[in-house]
Amino acid sequence: VIEIGTPDHSVVTTCAYCGVGCSFKAEMSGSKLVRMVPWKDGKANEGHSCVKGRFAFGYATHNDRIVKPMIRSKITDPWKEVSWEEAIGYAASELTRIQQKYGRDSVGGITSSRCTNEETYLVQKLIRGGFGNNNVDTCARVCHSPTGYGLSVTLGTSAGTQDFASVDYSDVILVIGANPTDGHPVFGSRMKARIRAGAKLIVADPRRIDMVKSPHVKADYHLQLKPGSNVAFVNAMAHVVVTEGLIDEAYVRERCDLGDFESWARFIADERHSPEASEQYTGVPAAQLREAARLYATGGNAAIYYGLGVTEHSQGSTMVMGMANLAMATGNIGHVGAGVNPLRGQNNVQGSCDMGSFPHELPGYRHVSDDATREMFENLWGRPLSSEPGLRIPNMLDEAIGGRFKGIYIQGEDIVQSDPDAQHVAAGLEAMECVVIQDLFINETAKYAHVFLPGSSFLEKDGTFTNAERRISRVRKVMAPLAGYADWETTLLLAKALGFEMEYSHPSEIMDEIAALTPTFAGVSFNKLDEIGSVQWPCNDDAPNGTPMMHVDRFVRGKGKFMLTQYVPTEERTSSKFPLVLTTGRILAHYNVGAQTRRTENTAWHPEDVLEIHPFDAEVRGVKDGDLIAIESRVGEVSLRAKVTERIQPGVVYTTFHHPVTGINVITTEFSDWATNCPEYKVTAVQIRKTNGP
Ligand code: SF4
Repeated sequence: VIEIGTPDHSVVTTCAYCGVGCSFKAEMSGSKLVRMVPWKDGKANEGHSCVKGRFAFGYATHNDRIVKPMIRSKITDPWKEVSWEEAIGYAASELTRIQQKYGRDSVGGITSSRCTNEETYLVQKLIRGGFGNNNVDTCARVCHSPTGYGLSVTLGTSAGTQDFASVDYSDVILVIGANPTDGHPVFGSRMKARIRAGAKLIVADPRRIDMVKSPHVKADYHLQLKPGSNVAFVNAMAHVVVTEGLIDEAYVRERCDLGDFESWARFIADERHSPEASEQYTGVPAAQLREAARLYATGGNAAIYYGLGVTEHSQGSTMVMGMANLAMATGNIGHVGAGVNPLRGQNNVQGSCDMGSFPHELPGYRHVSDDATREMFENLWGRPLSSEPGLRIPNMLDEAIGGRFKGIYIQGEDIVQSDPDAQHVAAGLEAMECVVIQDLFINETAKYAHVFLPGSSFLEKDGTFTNAERRISRVRKVMAPLAGYADWETTLLLAKALGFEMEYSHPSEIMDEIAALTPTFAGVSFNKLDEIGSVQWPCNDDAPNGTPMMHVDRFVRGKGKFMLTQYVPTEERTSSKFPLVLTTGRILAHYNVGAQTRRTENTAWHPEDVLEIHPFDAEVRGVKDGDLIAIESRVGEVSLRAKVTERIQPGVVYTTFHHPVTGINVITTEFSDWATNCPEYKVTAVQIRKTNGP
């Protein structure tokens, strides 16, 4: 509970919610946080904020915080509070025992996109140097891993191409599978301001999101495509560009690999990719799609902004490559107002990826099999490193069920609530002999844990977050850690107990090590951040004050690479038993699994998740607003109240996933992106029925 008082000092820090990365002044009265005031000098927000960053900080001192370490030998036993020394010692001895008994690869860990760059760097270092394997993964596995793959292959780097300010120069804005009003509110407002100033807006989304029509903006086109048809859609857009002579030939000739381009142009010109042929998949009227494609290609600076409605599909990576193809073909990368821009979800999901949280990549996106890179890390860390890619989260769970993966260290990630097919996740955790959780609260995943190490909120630590535009901003400690240690210190304790001692007296020293090992971070230091406020990577001798826009004169990979993007419908099909498609999203008041926002006043605005259903589908099932309904998929069943609305198209239902009581991932399936295993959250075939519940 926050006590209101008169502030006597303030500390500038960064919001711990979404990837916009707004700067705030935390106004303090002694050691108590009085209010969060958006900081006018913050480059990502320029004094703006949303209801999460501004008001939803009470969770940090909520009575639910776990501030004493706990252990238990069986998950059916009650928790026993113990000293830090005993908890860390127990975790280390169990993980060591498991490795000795089952082998080097029987343990691994998950870093947190809620934690700082320095903290995620330490967790992957512990796993690589301490465990001796690459079994490390991050929540980006379930959100933007296709962005990393798709943009790396086509453009050469795993991040958005522009800074936020670029949108002020866009003439055409194409929003695909994103809901900026709710998901990225401060940037969404900036985008709307540009639209009000005259930019054209194309929204491609199965749902009538706020930006389609609101008191503030109205889209020129709402292409209400069917869930699962993204690749058919983007191919049809590109087909119009290629067959109607709308290619920016000079740009392609100068900037792109011509052999790849010619193959792609032949592929995409085929009639099967035409808007007319694609209509059977997309549901978007061909004439409307043609007009939108012409607008994108000829309307001036055209920018694509996209979200999880692009990535969380069985063809998420293909769709990312399809958007890069479209942007390159029309010359829309490398100058202001253009680009292909992922609206990244969590406060530090970009950073956790940058810091080497993937099982195949060391910090800075360098493959673990690269001998020279590995040698550099080995020399500094003093440990031999594995050249074999490790396990992804779903593989860890599969291996656990198969009896080969037995121990895990999870920092700040509730995989039982946030990952698909929750029963499968729970079964994987249940099969492990030691699950170590480091978190603020007892969450769904902690129910399967043997060791609970209290985590620390963003108010209790120093460090950095990296936002969706690659901007590295300082997080500053405003109060002492409630449980005694910040997350980075806890990881150091565990590493030391495992016999892999790391010496840092402050997170700035961790950043110095990151800079020494990572060319894109070579010029980053806490001193520089304190001096200039924030900086966008790459930041090094070539760009001492950072890089707002990527791929300006040449692509990071050299020539831009066009990829063939064959549309393959998902295996998740509707049927007479499961005739509706469920898709999911977020709401302004809450954040992801709601662990933070549910412990604030924001809950009053959105006390439960509801199922949006079109009036036609509701009527044929006798469902009315507020009815309790069961939603059944091929893997499970949950209950929600109905909200009958024309926001959603017939045949599709929609819900949010902020409340654990809903457990929507009980019904999502095991299907995932072919390249990255990012789950297909956005397409689940379901049936619904009215129940007799209250
Ligand atoms: Fe925080 Fe995102 Fe809201 Fe900014 S837009 S205040 S970063 S939640």
